[in-house]
Amino acid sequence: DPALALRTVSKSYGDTPAVCELDLAVEAGEIVALIGPSGCGKSTLLRLVAGLERPDAGEVRVGDATVAGRGAWVPPEKRRVGLVFQEHALFPHLTVGDNIRFGLAGVARAEQDARVRKVLELVHLPHTVDRYPHELSGGEQQRIALARSLAPRPEVVLLDEPFSSLDESLRARVRTDTVDALRATGTTAILVTHDQTEALTVGDRIGVMRAGVVEQLGTPAEVFERP
Ligand code: ADP
Ligand code: ADP
Repeated sequence: DPALALRTVSKSYGDTPAVCELDLAVEAGEIVALIGPSGCGKSTLLRLVAGLERPDAGEVRVGDATVAGRGAWVPPEKRRVGLVFQEHALFPHLTVGDNIRFGLAGVARAEQDARVRKVLELVHLPHTVDRYPHELSGGEQQRIALARSLAPRPEVVLLDEPFSSLDESLRARVRTDTVDALRATGTTAILVTHDQTEALTVGDRIGVMRAGVVEQLGTPAEVFERP
């Protein structure tokens, strides 16, 4: 079974269709890079998977669970879905360690500490555990945001333009660390980007969206090199 599937999912905002009978299946451990013009529905797709929007029709599955559709509704906090946005959105008044623990309510304290250590090692920032976000660079904050998203061991991580607020000089490092951490944990991911080169670099497959559907889905060679 795919780790994530959307089946004929539709979502409109009033009279504005955002996603139209969209189908997408992402295999376990795969990174799909999603590209397409502004307004084609990329953010809406992520919001539907995260549970921040309800589909008007169709079905969303995460792992073995139907999280939306067919009468099912799993709220965002109960979905095994992690989120990383452009603006890292760490809590400024919490240390890095406490930012990561925030998503681990209900996990025993010793296990929380082990997870915090593990995810900070994954992004090569173990020494930042007691620091506050403002003491870190933008690139470091973005890597912490990724670490935080991985700590609950989500089935899928959704990354919305995760590198676009970073300087060009930082971007390559953060991108490499992000891909390495996703690979090391075997985490399935969808990464939205407006940058075709980035899509080529990070995506096992590339999804090209247009007008509310995934118009093309294939390897970088299939998507970019076909006549
Ligand atoms: P993208 O992320 O590809 O730019 P979006 O998913 O944000 O696309 O938007 C898809 C369509 O839905 C656009 O026409 C957009 O204007 C519209 N839309 C998105 N969010 C809202 C909203 N909250 N209210 C009304 N229209 C929206
Ligand atoms: P397997 O290959 O046995 O299915 P996983 O791919 O789930 O194992 O995980 C590989 C390693 O990464 C394991 O040590 C696991 O505990 C760890 N791991 C998996 N997901 C996460 C995560 N989100 N954060 C931190 N560690 C993780």
